[in-house]
Amino acid sequence: MTEEERKTITQAVQTAKKRIAEAAIASGRKPEDITLVAATKMNDAERVRAAIAAGVDVCGENRVQELLEKYEQHAYDGKPLHFIGTLQTNKVKYLIGKVSMIESVSSVKLAKVIDKEAAKAGICQDILLELNIGREESKLGIDPDEIDSVIEQVAQLEHVHVRGLMAIPPKTQPNQEKTLYFDRMSQLFIDISAKKYDNITMDCLSMGMSADYCEAISCGATIVRLGTALFGARHY
Ligand SMILES: *Cc1c(COP(=O)(O)O)cnc(C)c1O
Repeated sequence: MTEEERKTITQAVQTAKKRIAEAAIASGRKPEDITLVAATKMNDAERVRAAIAAGVDVCGENRVQELLEKYEQHAYDGKPLHFIGTLQTNKVKYLIGKVSMIESVSSVKLAKVIDKEAAKAGICQDILLELNIGREESKLGIDPDEIDSVIEQVAQLEHVHVRGLMAIPPKTQPNQEKTLYFDRMSQLFIDISAKKYDNITMDCLSMGMSADYCEAISCGATIVRLGTALFGARHY
């Protein structure tokens, strides 16, 4: 990584933090109430460290293999790590003990495997339940109509602690329409909080990415996950 690239990442993180703070204040909250997760996929350890040095709160990785490689390289040292991608049940064991939160829990079956692996490690794993808020066929995630039933089942698991909800809304143009999905998420979040389930703490609402994080914050997001806004376009 060149000095120039480091500077670019540093400035991008600062710009994002400024916009996050403004959006938080505009919606009557404090800047520190919003967690900035750097979605670090496709970015090497050095670039991850540059983002950490510039002040992101959390690193988020969405492939197990890539996470393990960068973990070995101490890329995430000093910051919590979230898993944010599609997770196969047979890979759960590699994450336990390394990630402070699994944001992308899209089924009771996956939650049960996490519970089993966390029990083996003697820990309680924080998770978010991922909703398929746009009911898209191509996407994993819990159907909004099934969330209560899922919560009731996951609440029984001793080694899993639900901390809130996560979603990747459908791609829409313009952003105007996306607030519809953010608002739906926010309403579900409020409804579930009001039900006061045992063993469920509703303090995290993870939604909003590079293109729409300010709108997401206006609608109540407490976690935003930014990739391209911090690191530039990904080259697949
Ligand atoms: C890549 C990714 C992001 C960030 O996307 P950008 O549009 O680049 O900000 C957020 N959440 C998840 C789950 C991702 O995989």
